[in-house]
Amino acid sequence: MIVAANWKMNKTLSEAQAYLTELKSALAPSPTAQALFFPPAVFLPCFQKELQGTPIFFGAQNCHFEASGAFTGEMSVPMLKDFGISTVLIGHSERRHIFSETDAMLAKKVSAVLKAGLSPLLCVGENEDERVFGKTLDRITHQLEQGLSLVETPESIVIAYEPVWAIGTGKVASAKDIWRVHQFIRDWLVQKWGDSGLAVPLLYGGSLTAQNCKEIAAIENVNGFLIGGASLKVSSYLEIFQSV
Ligand code: PEP
Repeated sequence: MIVAANWKMNKTLSEAQAYLTELKSALAPSPTAQALFFPPAVFLPCFQKELQGTPIFFGAQNCHFEASGAFTGEMSVPMLKDFGISTVLIGHSERRHIFSETDAMLAKKVSAVLKAGLSPLLCVGENEDERVFGKTLDRITHQLEQGLSLVETPESIVIAYEPVWAIGTGKVASAKDIWRVHQFIRDWLVQKWGDSGLAVPLLYGGSLTAQNCKEIAAIENVNGFLIGGASLKVSSYLEIFQSV
């Protein structure tokens, strides 16, 4: 199980440092769960220093697909890699909707991350209208086809199913819907890559809490979580981590 924490644009450096001090003293290594954090990129040097020699992994929330060039405000994968990251979050719903990232851009980002020998964590999920009009699986199919269009083999890819309407809203997808979508993604991966598709971790994200995580963790093909709000406090992150 991968228990991934997306801090989004939260915390100051001193708050990040205090969080890591508390986390390191409280988190017992687990044979079944991997802790993975996505802090704002400006905290990556702090994460690199504080987490050296610990079993806690960390990554970047975004990257550019080119290695260098005239892209003011952006960060490339080779730059991020220098800070010891394992993973890059790609296509989070906030990147798709607030920053208008297209599937074509995301496919290039996935490819750039793989080329650097890192793991891309691709987020997919339907919005409220698509859910209401029964278009969830069409949306997911489109996002998988496009986002993974430049990938040759799925090793080191991670997928997160995050229904857009469940992110930061307190609304959680039902166990039946999570099961249905995760099974659909698994079948899609196996159809494309055979048995290699069985090894791709599938995470659920969307208003996950210490209260609802146990039921979701027990669903077939749920191999971890992507947690936003509930990851901002060490105590609630740890409750979720320990539950798996
Ligand atoms: C997220 O940001 O990926 C997320 C799932 O947020 P939250 O847990 O707050 O819904």
